[in-house]
Amino acid sequence: MSEDSKQAEAVEEKPYKPTSPSSKLNFDGFWEYDDAPQSADHVEYKDQYDLFIDGEFVAPEKGRYFDSLNPATEEKLTSFAEATQQDIDKAVQAARKAFNKSWSTLEAKERGKYIFRIARLIQERAREFAILESMDGGKPIRESRDVDVPLAAAHFFYYAGWADKLDYAFPGKKAEPLGVAGQIIPWNFPLLMLAWKIAPALATGNTVVLKPAETTSLTALKFAELCKDAGLPDGVVNIVTGAGQTGSAIVNHDDIDKIAFTGSTEVGKIIKKSLAGTDKRYTLELGGKGPNIIFEDAPLDQAVEGVINAIFFNQGHVCCAGSRLFVQEGVADTVIQKLRDRMETLIVGDPLDKNTDVGAINSEQQYNKINEYLEIGVNEGAEMYQSSCQIPETGYFCRPTLFTNVGQSNRIVQEEIFGPVLTIQTFRTAEEGIKKANNTPYGLAGGVWTDKGSKIFKTGSEIRNGVVWSNTFNKFDPTSPFGGYKESGEGREGGLQGLYPYVKLQ
Ligand code: NAP
Ligand code: MG
Repeated sequence: MSEDSKQAEAVEEKPYKPTSPSSKLNFDGFWEYDDAPQSADHVEYKDQYDLFIDGEFVAPEKGRYFDSLNPATEEKLTSFAEATQQDIDKAVQAARKAFNKSWSTLEAKERGKYIFRIARLIQERAREFAILESMDGGKPIRESRDVDVPLAAAHFFYYAGWADKLDYAFPGKKAEPLGVAGQIIPWNFPLLMLAWKIAPALATGNTVVLKPAETTSLTALKFAELCKDAGLPDGVVNIVTGAGQTGSAIVNHDDIDKIAFTGSTEVGKIIKKSLAGTDKRYTLELGGKGPNIIFEDAPLDQAVEGVINAIFFNQGHVCCAGSRLFVQEGVADTVIQKLRDRMETLIVGDPLDKNTDVGAINSEQQYNKINEYLEIGVNEGAEMYQSSCQIPETGYFCRPTLFTNVGQSNRIVQEEIFGPVLTIQTFRTAEEGIKKANNTPYGLAGGVWTDKGSKIFKTGSEIRNGVVWSNTFNKFDPTSPFGGYKESGEGREGGLQGLYPYVKLQ
């Protein structure tokens, strides 16, 4: 035996197992991460935020404010204004005035310059935005720093480029803006969802009234400050904070031309009913219960890493999360074992620690919902496995969890949990896997893992999902359209397709 292979054997002999349940990796005698906290000292935010209307921060008519917590500490971070009907009227009036007086008549290339400026300013303040996103929403700083904020800037860059090229986007047609867009977004990707909404609307000459989610409005208000710094004409972007009623006041406002909503299927259905019979245009980006299909010939280690990314990173707070795993029978035991081993190494805890993989659940309400589903799963007879890591005593944290021994009709398989909870089922043939994957009211995104191109094409074309990733998961790019089938929504955002919902073609 050569020296090299002796050494390799010696390394392999050491068992790969965690030695103590810890929120940090701690392999006895191997290696361990130190704390790597991201300092938040230099980041400024106010104790209280007003509404951003017509280029100014203004107090809400009724003078009411509500608190926003840091879900990792349960401490109050700041408070936001509650916008009521009169405030929405003001915001819509400001947006209409800006649409008529400045934005829709501005030369397209000048509009593009403003949007570029916004993109550049997001890049310049990327660190600040990332820290605030993690403090307000609970997501790991690594995610907000490497995914949310760079992608938000990329969206503004991308749509800035389209502003003066709409004739090429729609050859032979003239693209006219619609007017005022009312936009409502959820809490899982606050700044990124704002970018998905505002960038294409501005590029096509529309003005906007946007409502961020109640629990995560901070980066939207920082974005409002950034619009002022960019010199954006008053009223082009208006940010109104509040709860569901504020959203409803936007949806039902007579002088709004288009509604862009991202959120739950439940609220999406309410909005669709309210819009029926009006001539408002709309796009709905709703919930999901994404399938992730692993074939026997897949590179299993990469697939396992992809599954971890698809459901546990970002606490499973991802509409396109791969929350239902389907593994071909022959490799199921191996995959489950590898998944459990990898789950043991996930670091759950302080969102501001750069080593954290799984941060805080966004709110107490969501935390309770996830725990209810864990109970439902167990009561339905499923076998639950959770990583053994310690979780902080305060704050809303949830252990990465997987369920085996589940059937198609189990609620944990059918309903969107929106947490770090994975169900695992097996299949024998591609047909069976695809059939099971499609057995859901949702159709947002899914993934397939295999060595064979033919299986990628078959599965990719037969699973009814707006996006299908192959041998990867949760990859986004502003040039690529995104949207759902079935109860996952209507319309597309992103890419060239993302311009359509904001224009009338003459
Ligand atoms: P949600 O409860 O539907 O809320 C989304 C937004 O709508 C929030 O700003 C919310 O305000 C507001 N809202 C609530 N009731 C309303 C009403 N009756 N009329 C108008 N607006 C109303 O969803 P969420 O819990 O924040 O977000 C999670 C959901 O979003 C998941 O289902 C997820 O799959 C989906 N999502 C989909 C995509 C996609 O691209 N398809 C992307 C991200 C998330 P409050 O914050 O005050 O409740
Ligand atoms: Mg918060």
